[in-house]
Amino acid sequence: MTDSALAAHAVPAPDPDQGKAVSERDRAHVFHSWSAQDQVAPLPIAGASGSRFWDYEGNNYLDFASQLVFTNIGHQHPKVVAAIQEQAARLCTISPSFANDKRSEAAELITSHAPEGLNRVFFTNAGADAIENAVRMARVHTGRPKVLTAYRSYHGNTATAITMTGDPRRWANEIAGHHDSAVGHFFGPYLYRSHFYATTEAEETERALDHLEQTIVFEGSGTIAAIVLETVVGTNGILVPPPGYLAGVRALCDKYGIVYIADEVMAGFGRTGAWFAIDHWDVTPDLITFAKGVNSGYVPLGGVIISDAIHDTFRNRVFPGGLTYSGHPLACAAAVATITVMREERIVENAAWLGENVFAPTLREFAERHPSVGEARGIGAFWALDLVKNRDSREMLVPYGASGAAAAPMNAVLAECKKHGTWPFTHFNRLQLTPPLNMSEADARKGLAAIDKALSVADQYVEA
Ligand code: PLP
Repeated sequence: MTDSALAAHAVPAPDPDQGKAVSERDRAHVFHSWSAQDQVAPLPIAGASGSRFWDYEGNNYLDFASQLVFTNIGHQHPKVVAAIQEQAARLCTISPSFANDKRSEAAELITSHAPEGLNRVFFTNAGADAIENAVRMARVHTGRPKVLTAYRSYHGNTATAITMTGDPRRWANEIAGHHDSAVGHFFGPYLYRSHFYATTEAEETERALDHLEQTIVFEGSGTIAAIVLETVVGTNGILVPPPGYLAGVRALCDKYGIVYIADEVMAGFGRTGAWFAIDHWDVTPDLITFAKGVNSGYVPLGGVIISDAIHDTFRNRVFPGGLTYSGHPLACAAAVATITVMREERIVENAAWLGENVFAPTLREFAERHPSVGEARGIGAFWALDLVKNRDSREMLVPYGASGAAAAPMNAVLAECKKHGTWPFTHFNRLQLTPPLNMSEADARKGLAAIDKALSVADQYVEA
């Protein structure tokens, strides 16, 4: 069944009264993430199927965000829904201290797609606790306290993960004292807005690596347990690393005895057109964190994939961490079904195909035609349009960290996308396009046509 057929099959009649009731209860009792509670009006959603979701008013949207970049196989994949139902009927839950068939199978499948030498999985509930536990492993393994991460990153909302985060969500937490004092930051590569005055990818790679090495030396290499990097930076801009950068990070980690943790919570499980984003650069990290796409978020799940060397540290030494729901059978059954479906339906290959044949050429053409597009960049089903007021100065369409009135131009662009039935993700001055990896070509082109119209709104804010 195609996405469109699924959507047509499943969409029920509009029911605005029910939608109103959902909203009223939400406003009365639900506390929302990252929000001033009186300033949000969450759209009540009645259902979803394939690449679409719909409200109670009869509007349906192409999901160009995959929610929060997690429904990599789209909504309500029948085989994954059936696997969850089957597992629920058989064994909903069991303590992590027992062995469980679906947990073992999920771990085997996950490691089968990881680089060689990473053969164990510690399961967590989602991404932030995957990061917390990867850092915990690195600290015990090295006996060192510090962690270095990049500005322009997001790693989660728990204490260490939010301190590691290189975007403004960290600031309010630090002010509130929610903080890990052994975390430091550095600048990663971002040629379009180079921190290193670079004009070529080769210069950006060389200078970003030199800056990282200087940071290591001045922080004291013997104090640093881990460097943690999103392989392709997600929320903070879909920043694809230039050739040689990740290999250079690996070499620095080897030189100074530092654990290299690849955060693939967003970039992993096919998002970039490879099972793990790191596969594009042929680099082997020591630990990989994952969540989201592992089971498309049908049941919360995350984890850490562990190298043999770090696993050896804990063969006869207690790992000082654990979670009540580590390797939850329902979540693991969903992962087994999701990975199986991704293989059978060649979903990762579809993401790569969409990237090369639909997103790359169309977005580059938009960049030529729309003066508000400073840069179009991405890989697979992972794309961003860096919107600007002025192409020469590259001044951002809205400032870094903009919210409220300062974000009005981006809100207008987003509203135009939604008016045309397409739901992308925006972050500061960027429109980010991260559809389900199995979106059809026709739906991808339909969504891009809506983006084209929304860019005409962005063009109105361009200053001569
Ligand atoms: N790491 C990255 C790269 C992410 O994008 C996210 C969430 O968006 C996280 C970690 C945190 O994951 P979670 O929200 O599941 O805790």
